[in-house]
Amino acid sequence: MRSISFPGQGRIGLVDRPEPQPGAGEVLLRIQRTALCGSDCKLWQRGTELVPGHEIFGTVDQPGHARHGQRCCVFIPVHCGHCASCTRGDTHLCLTDSVLMGWNRDGGYAQAVAVPEQCLLPVPDDIDDDLAPLLLDTIGTAAHGLRTVAPLVPPEEAEVLILGAGPVGLGGLIAAQEMGYRRIFVSDLREGRLALARSLGATPHPVGDLTKRFDLVIESSGAHAARNQGLEIVWPRGVVLLIGENDAPWTIEEKKPIRRKDFYMVRSFYFPKSDLAANIAMLRARRDDYRRFVDLRFGLEDFADVFPRFAAGQLVKPLLAP
Ligand SMILES: [Zn+2]
Ligand SMILES: [Zn+2]
Repeated sequence: MRSISFPGQGRIGLVDRPEPQPGAGEVLLRIQRTALCGSDCKLWQRGTELVPGHEIFGTVDQPGHARHGQRCCVFIPVHCGHCASCTRGDTHLCLTDSVLMGWNRDGGYAQAVAVPEQCLLPVPDDIDDDLAPLLLDTIGTAAHGLRTVAPLVPPEEAEVLILGAGPVGLGGLIAAQEMGYRRIFVSDLREGRLALARSLGATPHPVGDLTKRFDLVIESSGAHAARNQGLEIVWPRGVVLLIGENDAPWTIEEKKPIRRKDFYMVRSFYFPKSDLAANIAMLRARRDDYRRFVDLRFGLEDFADVFPRFAAGQLVKPLLAP
């Protein structure tokens, strides 16, 4: 099969690899779409032996298997099913298994992938191929974060600031609206993404502004400056929700606006499998809006051209159709 390789230092290869051989409890998935994700920039620079790509949607090709022919998304975290986290339904927070599809085993920038049965998320027929991958990071991660903090910030009067209008930030905008938040502001340096946020009902807010406070700050850029801004401007008793990622060391200067205040700082990672039905409902409710996130569909041979443009912020959610 053909697949993408990331040899490191921003290089991209198109290589032939043997077709994946599913192990016990696994199936072969013929990939229909894999969404590009900003978090892959780490692997792109660092290089990996594995097939990258983790926002995967395809069709099970395992004759004789109960799910043969079924359209499925791929849940990223492989999980043990019996640790304390898994037994309470937190299948994304497994304490004993830390394997992630597309990170620690082969992922979806390829024509096929072997997938553990437990990671198959069936997609209803009315969700078309171009929207299915949005059920993962774009809707799943954002909506789970909002569900986690909504009890702390009742939507009625709350003012919300979203830092970063990438796919997860824009996903957070729609998720917040669907949960009843009405006064939502968005900061981003990229005019195109800000225009999309505005057209979805958000109010643009100056990047780095410290003069206005918010009840809920959704930090989806992963930038340290934005995180520190959020801590500083969140209202007392408010919430800073961290859904952006950044594995570089983060220093917090605990100055007065941060130190002399009660507030919550909440980290939320991905989502549990039990969120799927609610995420499908959210996609159905705002189908036409989510469709606007998908600004390009392209093949494997164009990957080396498209990925750097995506990494530079010129595209919102391009989909590889291998
Ligand atoms: Zn992702
Ligand atoms: Zn577990």
